[in-house]
Amino acid sequence: MEFSSKLLERAVNEMSQLPGIGKRTALRLVLHMLKQPKEQIMSLSNALQSMRNDIKFCKSCYNISDVDLCEICSNPNRDETIICVVEDVRDVMAIENTSSFKGLYHVLGGKISPMDGIGPHDLNIQSLVDKVKAGIVNELIFALSSTMEGDTTNFYIFKQIQDYKINVSTIARGISVGDELEYADEITLGRSIVNRIPFEATLKL
Ligand SMILES: [Zn+2]
Repeated sequence: MEFSSKLLERAVNEMSQLPGIGKRTALRLVLHMLKQPKEQIMSLSNALQSMRNDIKFCKSCYNISDVDLCEICSNPNRDETIICVVEDVRDVMAIENTSSFKGLYHVLGGKISPMDGIGPHDLNIQSLVDKVKAGIVNELIFALSSTMEGDTTNFYIFKQIQDYKINVSTIARGISVGDELEYADEITLGRSIVNRIPFEATLKL
């Protein structure tokens, strides 16, 4: 792609670093921004900078938060004895939208995936195991997508906490294999949490 301006080229190159944005889309977005009032683009740029600089991860569940302890963890009406284990913050948002879950979350930050070089120690697993060891948790609900990586991750965590007498369940699969949680519709996802099944039952299949 030949550019008549280095400034334009730089903006397009930066924009095309985003996932799913090729050079042509990047050019279209940048040209669109050029037509917008300067204040609007400043506001976009400020929002992105503040987000990157100031956003925190909850020190307990690793959900995205503006404060040290997120709104869910600090809400006294949530049941701290039940923890729903999810891959990332989008899953927290999806499950919160169902209004079917009143416990707390634990965001792993990904799934174990040897192919991608992601091992258990790259994820927030030890802190989850520590929570179970601390004795407040009665139930863990695995809500990872049912891909091979999701299953591997569930099993790894299960092995770590097996000796502690807590219930371990997995969300019922109205959600078909390989679907990402965030795409499940709210009713199906809500039901799958309410109708969760003991994790060990899934191992015998
Ligand atoms: Zn939290």
